[in-house]
Amino acid sequence: MTAGARLRGRRIIITGAASGIGRATARLFSQEGAALALVDLQKDSLEEIAAQTGGQALTVDLSDHEATRAVVAQAAQLLGGLDGVVNCAGISGSCPLADLDQAAWDRMMAINLTAPYVVCRAALPFLQEAAAATIVNVASGQALLPTAHGISAYSASKAGLAAFTKALAFELAPRIRANVIAPGIVQTPMVESVLGGYSNPDEAPFVAQYALKRVARPSELADAILFLTSGESSFVTGALLAVDGGRTFH
Ligand code: NAD
Repeated sequence: MTAGARLRGRRIIITGAASGIGRATARLFSQEGAALALVDLQKDSLEEIAAQTGGQALTVDLSDHEATRAVVAQAAQLLGGLDGVVNCAGISGSCPLADLDQAAWDRMMAINLTAPYVVCRAALPFLQEAAAATIVNVASGQALLPTAHGISAYSASKAGLAAFTKALAFELAPRIRANVIAPGIVQTPMVESVLGGYSNPDEAPFVAQYALKRVARPSELADAILFLTSGESSFVTGALLAVDGGRTFH
């Protein structure tokens, strides 16, 4: 299909659209003709990207699951249905198990794992009505090879998200395809505390773990999400695509 029209006529909800990978995805999806509902808790930057992409800005805290359900219904109403979901919002954070209290664990699960479930569940009746519906969830390479210190809650939330997605692919086929990506390190505000000290982030010592020896740009993740959302991946479902510069070799 022609670049510039790969999502023409598709109505898609993207969480985490105010920043980083979700923002790059919103920009690319609008260039490809999608109608967008953009969800995040950062109101100002969400409204900015919505204005740039012609999308609908829906501000919500995804840890509030009742409010999240209402936002998905509102997105479907505004767009006249839903053909796709991209669950990109997430939080990170590292804490050794000895100091990891249950409130922190629960918050990680509420945003990284339960919110994508809530969004998929609320979107399901609309996706079932669509001609070719897709779900793309954003997990992490730390779900596959959790080598960062204090990453147990984050890794568990993302591994759960990956398994959830594969189960959906099996259950919802053939009407709805579901795939998950596992990014390596991507230069976004999420990893500012890790990369911020380096004038050239590619020189951070852990970048040596990556075959490509560099960090990713958000647009490189958006390209992978576009592939899994567009008809170009029409025979791909249940896939976990590592977009990680060759760190995990999955
Ligand atoms: P980011 O911080 O730039 O963007 C995350 C977005 O999610 C932000 O706009 C934030 O406001 C939103 N968000 C967080 N909690 C929310 C909540 N409770 N309600 C509503 N919105 C909320 O980070 P990013 O790097 O673009 O991350 C996108 C996804 O990619 C995340 O799921 C992250 O875990 C994953 N990921 C990122 C990296 C990386 O290196 N940056 C690596 C692997 C996986």
